[in-house]
Amino acid sequence: MKILLLGSGGREHALAWKIAQSPRVEKLYIAPGNAGSNAVGENVNIQATDFEAIAAFALQEQVSIVVVGPEDPLVKGIYDYFQNRADLRQIAVVGPSAKGAELEGSKEFAKGFMMRHNIPTARYKSITSNNLEEGYAFLESLEAPYVLKADGLCAGKGVLILPTLAEAKKELKDMLGGMFGSASSTVVIEEFLSGIECSVFVLTDGEHYKVLPVAKDYKRIGEGDTGLNTGGMGSVTPVPFADEEYMEKVRTRIIEPTINGLIEEKITYKGFIFLGLIRVKGEPMMIEYNVRMGDPETESVVLRIQSDFVDLLEGVAEGNLHEKTLVMDPRTAGCVILVSGGYPEDYEKGFPISGLEQAAATDSIIFHAGTTVKDGQVVTNGGRVIAVCSYGETKEEALVKSYEVADKIQFEKKYFRRDIGFDL
Ligand code: ATP
Repeated sequence: MKILLLGSGGREHALAWKIAQSPRVEKLYIAPGNAGSNAVGENVNIQATDFEAIAAFALQEQVSIVVVGPEDPLVKGIYDYFQNRADLRQIAVVGPSAKGAELEGSKEFAKGFMMRHNIPTARYKSITSNNLEEGYAFLESLEAPYVLKADGLCAGKGVLILPTLAEAKKELKDMLGGMFGSASSTVVIEEFLSGIECSVFVLTDGEHYKVLPVAKDYKRIGEGDTGLNTGGMGSVTPVPFADEEYMEKVRTRIIEPTINGLIEEKITYKGFIFLGLIRVKGEPMMIEYNVRMGDPETESVVLRIQSDFVDLLEGVAEGNLHEKTLVMDPRTAGCVILVSGGYPEDYEKGFPISGLEQAAATDSIIFHAGTTVKDGQVVTNGGRVIAVCSYGETKEEALVKSYEVADKIQFEKKYFRRDIGFDL
């Protein structure tokens, strides 16, 4: 079978690596991919949101399954685009319909969905410039710190956590005034929850589901979780506190109400659901939904999936996911992200990357993120550049291996955190 995977990050290289292991795959294409994904499949120079070009390519190459990595094409309706065209309908798209993608595309929709289906989450109020006074009153009813979220997609930058009421009121007004363009014309004000977070990934065919390995990611640029938010500086799986008892609560209070809620609301959803959870006094609470796999969690999660991933994807496409088996590797996997100096603010691109061959000779697994090839040389091409992932009997072993390999890979102004997993 031929598979087309959309996206160009570390998540996509990791998914491509896993998909390519399946003996069922005759050909794997990645559009547009990066310098690493080309080694496990064939990169195609098409952007993940260019639906027309994707459709034409999928038809020409007789692709059976399109796997969507990032959220943008999903929120823009790639699933519906394929469903609405008779000539494309036989190609399965792994991802939700545009309506399902609203769980990530609109925080107001996501919170409303959680309320309708009794899914535990922080108290909130949705505010536009028409009810700003209500927003101020709601803020006054909360305790510091204050959480403000732009309703729409802001590439992970649309959430502000503010220490004082005065700052929260000012930022609320600024957000509604266009701080994030139309994405913040509605703002969700939320009660602050204090606890430890983890990411749970669910694969569903719209009726049945499988829970993939649970991971924790590290978003801040600085050690000890300090400094600016990034796309993610590393990840670890499993997460010790997400034990049997906790996961049973997650299944009954969050996953099943989510799947049943989608069915009740007649929302077509055949793909990955990311549950961003926070543990408050031992109980799981929902922070957010994403409608795709997380990055950098995917880079460690795929290491722990032993089953044929294509078999699972086919289960999604055919609606018989319950007949498939998901076997997980009991070992720990740890991933460290090497980033360009200056990231997540301004940084330079185009620095040659050396040491990749030495790294490949170890038993760590290297996924490319922001890389490209220039004059035959792999060079940096983004903020997050390389993911170094390793197995270990313990998290310490997995991470020490990753750090050793991280030291072998060189590029100008390389930076990485040496404390991934520190709080587990
Ligand atoms: P990303 O794309 O980076 O996941 P996002 O823009 O979709 O982020 P959220 O995940 O909703 O936004 O929030 C980002 C982070 O802010 C969360 O991972 C969490 O650490 C923090 N956060 C969000 N809501 C709350 C809350 N109610 N209480 C405490 N912390 C919160």
